[in-house]
Amino acid sequence: MKQYFVQTFGCQMNVHDSRRIEEVLRRSGYREATEPALADLLIVNTCSVREKAEHKLMSLLGTFRPYKEAQRGMVLAVAGCVAQQEGERLLKKAPFVDIILGPDNIPELPALIREVEQGAPPITRTVFDMDDPQFLKAKPHPGRREVTAYVTVMKGCDERCTFCIVPHTRGSERYRPADEIVGEIRDLVAGGVREVTLLGQTVNSWHEPGAPSEAAKLQPKTAPSTSQFAELLRRIAREVPDLSRLRYTSPHPRHITPELVAAHAELELLPAHVHLPVQSGSDRVLRRMARRYTAADYVARTDALKEAREGLTLSTDFIVGFPGETDADFERTLELVRRVGFVAAFAFKYSPRPYTPALKLGDEVSEEVKDRRLSRLFALIESQQRAHLESWVAKDVEVLVEGRSPGDTGRFSGRTERNEIVHLIAPEGYDPTGELVAVTIDEPFRHSLSGYMTGAEGRRERGRRTRLSLVDAGGAA
Ligand code: SF4
Repeated sequence: MKQYFVQTFGCQMNVHDSRRIEEVLRRSGYREATEPALADLLIVNTCSVREKAEHKLMSLLGTFRPYKEAQRGMVLAVAGCVAQQEGERLLKKAPFVDIILGPDNIPELPALIREVEQGAPPITRTVFDMDDPQFLKAKPHPGRREVTAYVTVMKGCDERCTFCIVPHTRGSERYRPADEIVGEIRDLVAGGVREVTLLGQTVNSWHEPGAPSEAAKLQPKTAPSTSQFAELLRRIAREVPDLSRLRYTSPHPRHITPELVAAHAELELLPAHVHLPVQSGSDRVLRRMARRYTAADYVARTDALKEAREGLTLSTDFIVGFPGETDADFERTLELVRRVGFVAAFAFKYSPRPYTPALKLGDEVSEEVKDRRLSRLFALIESQQRAHLESWVAKDVEVLVEGRSPGDTGRFSGRTERNEIVHLIAPEGYDPTGELVAVTIDEPFRHSLSGYMTGAEGRRERGRRTRLSLVDAGGAA
């Protein structure tokens, strides 16, 4: 049986694509290799959102090249956003690559491999599936207990944030029919999945394909008055009663509608956490980024979410040192962090990305200033995160257990509904993987919490609470 090895870097969307690549290959008779040297097929799945993606790719290809030279017939493929962005140009830089594959062309991979094996020259396939969008279905991995899963609801992006390459590499927005989404979630839950994260570049702009786009109806800076996405959440809650949690990523602040806020108040299934990228707290910078909301709009929407759901926490993304960002602009960002009370954030220094409108703005903020701003931003966010985590000591939280903690700690790990990671001790001999359990927190770590499972009342199901006897819990006295 032939073996594949996939190396992934980048965002959640890319990790999800790698899983689909693996599924397509397994269906074609491949199995996973434990290391690249043993593989018949090597795939690098790339992401170009962050800095130096191409540089990283070239260095990885340099590592893989000797394997290919040592093993006659080995196929080397580059997939993902850098493949889409660079296309044939990549073959000029790395002529030993056999296949360049865009994100929409994953289903074609087995056929392309066969062509290469039959002696075809290197192939580039980077065509968007605009007319007939395909959404590959997530399947549980054989032999792996999976508690959480991602389900794609839309792909592409109609926003035009000036720093972002995604509209170039992933194309315009395409939406998946609700019937398909609900069907996939139902199958995943029947296979043991307890938490699903709906995935899309601007996930909350989702609407039934063919229905008029909310984005098309919107004037800049105004919020849409209806949200088909909120209806989708309600439908999933109604039709998949055994699902424990439903998250979504990444929402765009423009599409936080009153209906979506109301869904957070109504649906127990939605956890008390939203990751809502803001990028900057300065209106001037937001305008230059073409984000189409102001800091006040953002605050109003996050306030509404917090009001709708008690204890709801927020995390976000920031870019510091965007062209033209002054010290005063950066202070607005720090003010926003305090005002919203973010408990976590991803923050990056601006770096010009190819094919983006911001390229013509230059890159005038010095690296030194960017470094200083990034450190101040991290320090503030970490202090808020620390205070938040400390506030949970000696309290009970509900954790969906995802499996054993990394390393041989004897602990399990999972997440609370607010997305805090909890490393927990279960009663001896009891494996709570896949359970919603009550955990008493005893210690905060830097980015997570530690606690112990509250044995006698440890197990909960959505909508009902089951008492678990000490014997059931593994014999703890
Ligand atoms: S919303 Fe903006 S940042 Fe997000 S994918 Fe679209 S263009 Fe990129």
